[in-house]
Amino acid sequence: MKHSTYSVVIIGSGAAGLYSALKISQQLVLPEGILLVTKSTLSDCNSYHAQGGIVSVLPQNKEDSIDLHVKDTMKSGVGLSEANVVSSISEKSAQVIKDMDDMGVIFDKNENGEYLLTLEGAHSVRRILHSGGDSTGAGIVNAFINRVGETSDISIYENTMAVELMLNEEKECQGVILFNEQTREYEAVHSSVVILATGGLGQVYKYTSNPKVATGDGIALAYLAGAEIQDLEFVQFHPTTLMIENSNERFLISEALRGEGAKLLLKDGSNFMDKYDEREELAPRDIVTRAIFEEMKKNNENCVLLDATMLGEEKLKKRFPTIYKKCLENSIDISKDYIPVAPAAHYTMGGIRADVEGRTSIKGLYAIGEVASTGLHGANRLASNSLLECVVCAYELANYLTFADLSVPKQLDKKVFDLIKKYDEQGEYFDIDVEECKNKVRDIMWNYVGICRDEEGLKYALSQLKQMKKELACQTKYETQSEYELRNMIIDAILITDGALERKESRGGHFRNDYNYTESRAYHSIVTIKEEKEC
Ligand SMILES: Cc1cc2nc3c(=O)[nH]c(=O)nc-3n(C[C@H](O)[C@H](O)[C@H](O)COP(=O)(O)OP(=O)(O)OC[C@H]3O[C@@H](n4cnc5c(N)ncnc54)[C@H](O)[C@@H]3O)c2cc1C
Repeated sequence: MKHSTYSVVIIGSGAAGLYSALKISQQLVLPEGILLVTKSTLSDCNSYHAQGGIVSVLPQNKEDSIDLHVKDTMKSGVGLSEANVVSSISEKSAQVIKDMDDMGVIFDKNENGEYLLTLEGAHSVRRILHSGGDSTGAGIVNAFINRVGETSDISIYENTMAVELMLNEEKECQGVILFNEQTREYEAVHSSVVILATGGLGQVYKYTSNPKVATGDGIALAYLAGAEIQDLEFVQFHPTTLMIENSNERFLISEALRGEGAKLLLKDGSNFMDKYDEREELAPRDIVTRAIFEEMKKNNENCVLLDATMLGEEKLKKRFPTIYKKCLENSIDISKDYIPVAPAAHYTMGGIRADVEGRTSIKGLYAIGEVASTGLHGANRLASNSLLECVVCAYELANYLTFADLSVPKQLDKKVFDLIKKYDEQGEYFDIDVEECKNKVRDIMWNYVGICRDEEGLKYALSQLKQMKKELACQTKYETQSEYELRNMIIDAILITDGALERKESRGGHFRNDYNYTESRAYHSIVTIKEEKEC
């Protein structure tokens, strides 16, 4: 097996991974350099698909303040957002946006050079910056990729998957095992700083706005290594994704459309959101999602409709060019036609328990972006807070590392040595249809661990998933990237289901039909692997 040594290894090339690479490179002189690893191409990530924008509390926005943003975020998080985390991320927002601007991210501005701000659900004021109208993620990722390409101390591995973290006898992270499916080669990368920026797990659900890479790998890897995993039962289902007949693909129809005035309708043309919440279309996502889900069930329909026609062709084309084009490709002219929309899994509020600097419960292991659970989002993420979390935590982690010991251990201890040996040996291979198994996980999760949950369904899901785990025999070497993804999806699915079963209340993104109330005391659920051989 190939061995290499880097001062810092970053897994994932979304907003969190790319920006952390850039900030670390800017601030530190690293003798062994930085390695940025991604399992697909650089731009294949959730971040690239972000539409609506990124929150910033700008000093020039007199309507807004840190306190107001904290209040909105805390309200959305239904008791589980942590005030100190929310305010520290909010306080850094203007500084980080300025830095991104300097790095070449082009945010939309008016003729006076002032940022254009939009509104999304549960925000009290307009505070969301955007890029390219509705292609904010692509604007950010492309600018970062350009910068990374100009930075000589960042090495890049594409189409390479992190498959296991290397921990020593002291349970400190000392590096990571990588697998390149194209060459079929494994590589042990030795480093005392491993940053997981692997994004969320939308792909464990049948319907999701997330791209194929979002299989929750980082959460499973950290869990198997013994890290604390927090609040995984809180999955955000976005209310409005494009419902395409006979397809599982769910393209996001940004909340910013509703922020600009678009209305939700039933097929008979009547409004319904006023029956569910006084904020109607701009209520928090969990409320709008359940309202749509309820109406779809009641009327035996597979979607509701979104009317954006009142915004007019010119504004729609200018402000929402990506949505306009995608709908037109599906024969929907959004300036004239209603858009068929349905909810889909969108965002992972829980994840690897980490602080704002990305520190996890394992020394040497850091988690930033969607893979992390910092306490910002609580039980329900406020729109456009996630890109902000990615960049602020990346920024803070780079600052933290300027004081950390980045020297790479010269000798392998027995535990690391044994782990590496496993990948040098012939693996046990299985004759399974991986795609069929992935689809089975997605069906189970959508049907029994989805928008509305109950004990019977959750217990059934858990027994099915545990059976799949047994059959797949975790903890061995696999032959393909897809098999590793399947292992990770099953582990994550079990953790979500376990958490959902244990949490006997409804709160934010977690809704139980059989416990349709919110406990007065809010608590995080924190789990760690019980025994080393378990997975
Ligand atoms: C359609 C859509 C629209 C959104 N709109 C907004 C918005 O407007 N505003 C907002 O704030 N948020 C939005 N979000 C959420 C936000 O985009 C994400 O939460 C955020 O971009 C996550 O960034 P990240 O860097 O943590 O992860 P990602 O951008 O998902 O990047 C993860 C990276 O890790 C790589 N990876 C994963 N596993 C492995 C592995 N085992 N080995 C190697 N590499 C691996 C992936 O290939 C990818 O490069 C949206 C999300 C989606 C899906």
